[in-house]
Amino acid sequence: MEFCLDCWICERTGRTTVFEHGAERAVCSGDADSGQHYTAARIAAFDYTSEPRRTTLHAVIDHWWAPFHDARRDRPGTALTRIPWVRLQVGYHCPHQQGGGTFTIQTNLVRPVAFSCEHCAAPVAGSDEVPRIRRLSYPTP
Ligand SMILES: [Zn+2]
Ligand SMILES: [Zn+2]
Repeated sequence: MEFCLDCWICERTGRTTVFEHGAERAVCSGDADSGQHYTAARIAAFDYTSEPRRTTLHAVIDHWWAPFHDARRDRPGTALTRIPWVRLQVGYHCPHQQGGGTFTIQTNLVRPVAFSCEHCAAPVAGSDEVPRIRRLSYPTP
């Protein structure tokens, strides 16, 4: 999963932060000077709910955050970045047992969008709703 976060370590807003399910820490893309670095964030929980013809994925992200000022963009960091977005990489099994593959769902995508198997071109999934991002805790400034 890639999630856009304001990073208090490299003090830059709007950083692409890469999460892997099960990893103890995430990786912030940093900026051109500092390069990427580990950051205090992880996927704390991941599950899904299934209805007929619809599966909803839920991910809870733990993210340590402290106030800072992004000197380069001259703007304060926020606990949930100004324009949050997310990109999810999802695995699938081929319906014709020809292996598996992955596709990505992301916030800024024209919807509805359909994904097909990279082996046999059978439809495997679609996305018709923009991922919702919600802050669960942290006092509102
Ligand atoms: Zn950073
Ligand atoms: Zn297939």
